[in-house]
Amino acid sequence: MPMWNPDCEAMSREELEKLQVKRLREAVERVAATVPFYQKRFQEAGVSPEDINSLDDLKRLPFTEKNDLRENYPFGLFTVSLEQIVRIHASSGTTGKPTVGGYTRADLELWAEVMARTVTCAGVTAQDVVHNAYGYGLFTGGLGFHLGAEKVGATVVPISGGMTRRQVMLMEDFGATVLTCTPSYSLVLAEEAAEMGVDFKKHMKVRTGIFGAEPWSEKMRAEIEDKLGVEAYDIYGLTEIIGPGVSVECEHHNGLHIFEDHFLPEIIDPDTGEPLPYGEEGELVFTTLTKEAMPVIRYRTRDRTVLHVEPCACGRTMVRMEKILGRTDDMLIVRGVNVFPQLVERTLLTVEGLEPHYQIVIDRPKDQLDILEVWVEASPDLFNPIDTRALDALKEKAESELAQTLGVSARVKLMGPRSLERSLGKAKRVVDKRDI
Ligand code: ADP
Ligand code: ZN
Repeated sequence: MPMWNPDCEAMSREELEKLQVKRLREAVERVAATVPFYQKRFQEAGVSPEDINSLDDLKRLPFTEKNDLRENYPFGLFTVSLEQIVRIHASSGTTGKPTVGGYTRADLELWAEVMARTVTCAGVTAQDVVHNAYGYGLFTGGLGFHLGAEKVGATVVPISGGMTRRQVMLMEDFGATVLTCTPSYSLVLAEEAAEMGVDFKKHMKVRTGIFGAEPWSEKMRAEIEDKLGVEAYDIYGLTEIIGPGVSVECEHHNGLHIFEDHFLPEIIDPDTGEPLPYGEEGELVFTTLTKEAMPVIRYRTRDRTVLHVEPCACGRTMVRMEKILGRTDDMLIVRGVNVFPQLVERTLLTVEGLEPHYQIVIDRPKDQLDILEVWVEASPDLFNPIDTRALDALKEKAESELAQTLGVSARVKLMGPRSLERSLGKAKRVVDKRDI
């Protein structure tokens, strides 16, 4: 299958490394000249841009973490003034404040470039009709795919999420050949289509699906491919780096090629921070090499994976990361949205009438989207005697507060006093019943 940009995607490792060193040095110079946060960090670490002369020097640079983004919220890590920023996206953070990403015009061009590579890697061309059911908005999924699909000249249908019946109808009527959405939503589409009497394999032209934004297994891939009659490609990205377009599978499905000329990956031991060699599992860390508005230096993703550098039969020389194997923190992904248990707790504590005893229960009934439940004890006063009206109002209040801060809806189940199990050690706050 063709590459969008063979000069970059298939360049020799030697040439690539030279380019990476040069760009790394420039990125470090850029943030050192403009961002007080990095100036301070580099000073504390005793490192300056002149020290960066090889990829090995990368380890001299300090890490950046999600918390650093929070402390510099909203625009503290930008290297340019807002006048040069043409777009802002955001993803849910660990507290009530989101993680922000800013883009200059050049950043949007870069994003379009890596997304064009991404969709081309999955075989998308100007002949395709791309049904893009990733959410449009602050979330990077929808607009990221939009840029890339448009750049390769495909016909983009910016349907965004929701209204599943209408999606099925339009997919059929417009003759969509490519579906882009979260893997779990693809199964919802298949299920809804079946209910409408539409056989995906018979009535739809769709042959390729590009799925990401949440973890999914090989078992789920097999199920999707079987139900939708598509070849399923895994795509990975995160707002802090650029959004989707960081890595994607090629037709060999042997890991996700990282566009390393723009995003420099490392694997580290999450406990010690020491870099690990290719082939070993650890935490994925990225340094953006060419981003203008908000470069990040050694950003700890908290995602666990393994990197492989052996050549791939597709001809791309870019390293491959294995499917994400898990997280090094407790972040959950519910319907594609990042949910931090800590934030659930903080939110519950602000609602009067709730007790600090709670449990988060997540389930995914067959071919449906995730259901997030929060079981929380209500104040004993409300049960003695039982005050149904106050309990209903409290439930409604808690649900609305959670929806506001999490960005995803949660069902609240109010529990009687001492009905949630007390733990002697670390409380078990999350029960994840999903079989992914
Ligand atoms: P996204 O639009 O990709 O969801 P966010 O910044 O909201 O962007 O979330 C990024 C996180 O989503 C990643 O750090 C990772 O944990 C998860 N994620 C994204 N893509 C995948 C994928 N293909 N497989 C597993 N997890 C993924
Ligand atoms: Zn390949």
